[in-house]
Amino acid sequence: VNDSYGHGTGDQLIRAVAAGLKVLIPQGAVLARIGGDEFAIAFLSDGENAAALQLSEQILDFLVDPLEIGRRVVVVGASIGIAMSPAGTIEREELVRRSDLAMYKAKEAGRARMTLYDPSMDADREQRNALELDLRNAIESGDLTLAYQPLVDATTQALTGVEALVRWNRPGHGPVSPEVFIPIAETSGLIESLGLFVLRKACETAKQWPELNVSVNVSPGQFRNPAFTDYVRYVLKQTEIEASRITLEITEGYMIQNPQRTRQSIERLKGLGVKVALDDFGSGFSSIGYLRQFGFDRIKIDRSLVMGVNEDKRQREMLQATVALARSLDIPVTAEGIETEGQAVAMRLFGCDCLQGYLFGKPMVAERITDMLNE
Ligand code: C2E
Ligand code: CA
Ligand code: CA
Ligand code: CA
Repeated sequence: VNDSYGHGTGDQLIRAVAAGLKVLIPQGAVLARIGGDEFAIAFLSDGENAAALQLSEQILDFLVDPLEIGRRVVVVGASIGIAMSPAGTIEREELVRRSDLAMYKAKEAGRARMTLYDPSMDADREQRNALELDLRNAIESGDLTLAYQPLVDATTQALTGVEALVRWNRPGHGPVSPEVFIPIAETSGLIESLGLFVLRKACETAKQWPELNVSVNVSPGQFRNPAFTDYVRYVLKQTEIEASRITLEITEGYMIQNPQRTRQSIERLKGLGVKVALDDFGSGFSSIGYLRQFGFDRIKIDRSLVMGVNEDKRQREMLQATVALARSLDIPVTAEGIETEGQAVAMRLFGCDCLQGYLFGKPMVAERITDMLNE
């Protein structure tokens, strides 16, 4: 059960949901609260899925209507996993484990879903566990590396900075995309050590490029940690890097969920002298007006928006308006994912002062950046 607005109505909410479920479940069924916001319902059926699917649908329907908790109206949702024990052949613990696995699959698929357990879920889980184990080893033995992608001045196309991007060559498997392993690091408690490695490595490397700014991605799991500012202060001191040359990039998603804490964290980070940029702008929901209060030093327009700039008239207009609004708040704008001259020209025309994309260079090893500076 997910209180999607995080109103924190807690036990009252759980009681209201439980009361609703009690009405829905069939005669003789067992309703149990596993813990937190998780419930289990067990009942006998004729051996087919239909009854469980139907009940799940009824539960999701029931939760579509907002619940009144005291004077509050709360919107809740649920992710439901279903497992069957044909003729009682599956042990109770195993049945709970299977439905739990199916529930996580439902969760991954989006809100308000129901999913039936199937054995391939065990294989998925095993693969994921193996990946997690390898990632843990890679972090511990320093097998992760950083690639650096050029950031150029929109007018002169001179190299002004780089973005550090983590790379992992998984033994026996080849390169794994950070889009795959960062989320795994997030949910397995590895993000802190991974993030610390990236920040330290990027700061150390940046020392050989006194003329460049270095951007480092910070994931929500790092940013959420109240001690994050202390880590940053520590690394800055340890590597003796000039703080103003470091930009931390954070994504929109986290900010929307935790506006208050985001504001505080940004303030503290800026107190250290580092810059803070909003990454992937335009891929989510935030409006520019809303951004003013956060004090971002820079906005990066998401590649998905930049892509269509010369194809789709409406997208072009929206992009133009977005950049103009950011500029009206005196926030400089970077366009990412520039692959063609046409895109570069358009984004500069709209007012972006910094460009990034394959047109100017793919992410590359540090030595190549040094070569570029010496060219
Ligand atoms: P991002 O921060 O938006 O980084 C830009 C991504 O777009 C990079 O993918 C980069 O290689 C790719 N890219 C840049 N220019 C172009 C272009 O012109 N065309 C195309 N098609 N792609 C382009 P990458 O390195 O695979 O990273 C993916 C995402 O993973 C990053 O998106 C970032 O969110 C995350 N990530 C990467 N490194 C780190 C890290 O060290 N820490 C954290 N927390 N996240 C990271
Ligand atoms: Ca939950
Ligand atoms: Ca980024
Ligand atoms: Ca981005």
